[in-house]
Amino acid sequence: MTMTGYFTHPDCRKHEMGPGHPECPERLDAIEDRLLVTGLGLALERREALPAAVADIELVHSRMYVAALRGLSDGLKSEIDAGGPSHVQIDPDTSLNVSTFDAALCAAGAALAATDAVLAGDLTNAFCAIRPPGHHACREHAMGFCFFNNVAIAAKYALECHGLKRVAIVDFDVHHGNGTEEVVVADPRMLMVSFYQYPFYPLDHAHSSAGNLVNLPVPAYTKGMEIRELIENAWIPRLEAFRPEMIFISAGFDSHREDDLGQLGLVEQDYAWITHRIKDVARRHAKGRIVSCLEGGYNLSSLARSAEAHIRVLADV
Ligand SMILES: [Zn+2]
Repeated sequence: MTMTGYFTHPDCRKHEMGPGHPECPERLDAIEDRLLVTGLGLALERREALPAAVADIELVHSRMYVAALRGLSDGLKSEIDAGGPSHVQIDPDTSLNVSTFDAALCAAGAALAATDAVLAGDLTNAFCAIRPPGHHACREHAMGFCFFNNVAIAAKYALECHGLKRVAIVDFDVHHGNGTEEVVVADPRMLMVSFYQYPFYPLDHAHSSAGNLVNLPVPAYTKGMEIRELIENAWIPRLEAFRPEMIFISAGFDSHREDDLGQLGLVEQDYAWITHRIKDVARRHAKGRIVSCLEGGYNLSSLARSAEAHIRVLADV
């Protein structure tokens, strides 16, 4: 019997980057509401995450970067007390408020707790409803709404702390997961498969041609059926040959055709199809073990419907 976990933490709602920012707390509410009205939430094992230990964050990020981020957060608290601004800007799209550091620890903590539970056989698979997202976060810097690379941290943790030998990362966000790629190219125990709109953000981050990456850059307005064909021909044979012992998903729903942050043409049924294909691989090689983490998805309606379609397949209901 399949048991699917749903991991989140109230602190993930407290991080916000200013009025009108698309990466907003309401994204999590939209998913929660959808699980409630459809009854799908009842089929999930709901768990509250704990903040990640800094030592686990440092499996991917440098000690200096983690300390610098904590320093910015602490500095901001004193500045606010003195009547200063409420945010520290990291790049034009990315800023910290007083809750960002704790939210980022809880987001990574959810991915780690899900990994523990799935590897213990306590859950078959899990979805982490978390923010800030992670796949642009690099070893030494935050960017593109991301602070800690949740999926890369959990994947490294599965290798280093649970002794797995091979893990795969699947990224279906509209944007290229440059931060994750940086981690994967340095570690042959990882395979990353992805598609993303190109040319597009993050433009100046080169796409590596390392052998453990299957990058599928696609032009704007590519439709779901074309993506499915690419996945069938390029991802699946490589995943099958790699035989991952666990699969991590960077679940970005901004590749939906209704999402204005990207221009790809996926719909809910495409996310369901992709999830089925990943589950097939996981069943054959990984005892079904999948941990999926929310990345993008900014149109609240299509985000909620797409996350539902994805979780429905994970939970087999
Ligand atoms: Zn994205």
